Amino acid sequence: MIQAKETAVDALTKDFLDKLAGGGAPSTEQRETVMRLYALAREAAGTAAIVAFFAALREMKRASGLGYEAFGLTREALVDIARLHAERDEHGVSVGGRVGRAYDVLEAANDRVETYLAQQEAVPDGEALWESMQQNAARIRSVLGMSDDDWNSFSGQLRHAINDVETLAKCVELPQATIREVTRVTEKYRMRLTPYYASLIMPGVVNDPVLLQAVPTAEMVDNMGVELPPVASDHSPARLIDQFYPRVVAVKVTNMCAMYCTHCLRIAHIGKADRVFPREAYTEALNYIRSNPRIRDVLITGGDAFMLPNETLGWLLEQLDNIPHVQMKRLGTRVPVTTPQRVDDALLGILAASNDKSPVRVVTQVNTAQELTPVSRAAFKAISGQVSAILNQAVLLRGINDSRPKMWKLCETLHASYIRPYYVFNCSYRNPQYTHMRVPVEKGRDIIESMYGNISGDAIPRYIAAAGGKIPLHRSNVMGRAEDGGLRLRKPWNGEETVYPDADTDLYADDDHFAFARTEGEDT
Ligand SMILES: *Cc1c(COP(=O)(O)O)cnc(C)c1O
Ligand code: SF4
Repeated sequence: MIQAKETAVDALTKDFLDKLAGGGAPSTEQRETVMRLYALAREAAGTAAIVAFFAALREMKRASGLGYEAFGLTREALVDIARLHAERDEHGVSVGGRVGRAYDVLEAANDRVETYLAQQEAVPDGEALWESMQQNAARIRSVLGMSDDDWNSFSGQLRHAINDVETLAKCVELPQATIREVTRVTEKYRMRLTPYYASLIMPGVVNDPVLLQAVPTAEMVDNMGVELPPVASDHSPARLIDQFYPRVVAVKVTNMCAMYCTHCLRIAHIGKADRVFPREAYTEALNYIRSNPRIRDVLITGGDAFMLPNETLGWLLEQLDNIPHVQMKRLGTRVPVTTPQRVDDALLGILAASNDKSPVRVVTQVNTAQELTPVSRAAFKAISGQVSAILNQAVLLRGINDSRPKMWKLCETLHASYIRPYYVFNCSYRNPQYTHMRVPVEKGRDIIESMYGNISGDAIPRYIAAAGGKIPLHRSNVMGRAEDGGLRLRKPWNGEETVYPDADTDLYADDDHFAFARTEGEDT
């Protein structure tokens, strides 16, 4: 074999080989490992065996202080192999780059997610809890006397919805003190859970996150105080319409939900008896949209859009699809999480037909990975095949999703369930009833920002305060100007600063000498 010259390798590799240099006294086992990998590195095609060999040398040096001379290897021999690597790699990456640098960089990055990976098992998703949930379901079904058809249909789930403490206590194991408390509260607040959603509550868990979302606690009565008027009163230019922005409107098409959330922003609106709105109300709302050509995006919300009968939902979408300036629709619903039985072929057909005209997005609300069961995941998968996107708006809630592992797990599970995490709301100040569930803004920032660089970018939600419109709460990562005029940027994942050269403002302002304008009129 021809001895390679040092000039044949790049600076990173030279540097790497310097670090690997040295002698020592390896054990027989260590010697055999290195020599076996060395033989493989010389003989095997590809780059993997070469990388494995250099990675082993790196580890020998790091863990035992053994340099390559300890194994009878020469620098020339290593250079020969390193050259093979750079020749074979499609992007010309050298061994010094790959094992000398990338391994270090990746190890540091891996350390950042170590805590999450160690803790995420303690935050089970609905898949991991599915067996227990099915046991809960069997118990609840027999208590409520539900047939298979009842359980598997939306109407059956609604007909058997749990509205009172006595029934709840038969379905879900609750301590006596809790039962007394809930009795007192439900005199003031409406409670409703579908039997399916109740089956997601884990018995024996004091503050089970699904229980907390569905069953009102005494704090809700104790916290009652001066109610702020609903935001809607400042922002409702027409019947059923909420309008914060010139080009997006929300139409509150129903006050019904399949279950009522303890943290509901519209608590005053939905807390009362279920109401079916007259056609005339929808017509007035549609007329408002029709006569305002600025409006391009219409949210059908409530309550819950999927509480509408198929016929009404289909009609509304058709009406919107016939308004030329309406370019897209959104449907706000928690039903695929709380009652996935609703998602059947008829509904999917309605979504598909409207999405064919212009994009339909389904905006849902999942607050914990626990709510993403095999059944709700299947519902979201089916929906995702018919619409342009499924987006999630979570609410940051104490004891429910207010830690890094819980929120990371939620976002990753959503992402894997065909849903894009869109917003995380800081729980509103508007309703004193749920003051006890609020989480400080700063805590939410820590949680959301910790995701940057650690989970996929399209699984990271925006953190929002709702205050007559949605206000982003993210911290800026622009720390100021460096001496050379560049911007000092902070990497959110490790706090490191880097200088980012900005575009030249003079060059940017000079339209006369931009692109084809430079030669305009030259040869006429
Ligand atoms: C949330 C909301 C919107 C939509 O806001 P986006 O930032 O576009 O998601 C529009 N109108 C009302 C009344 C809303 O509550
Ligand atoms: S689904 Fe939405 S509107 Fe209905 S109770 Fe829950 S938060 Fe309120």
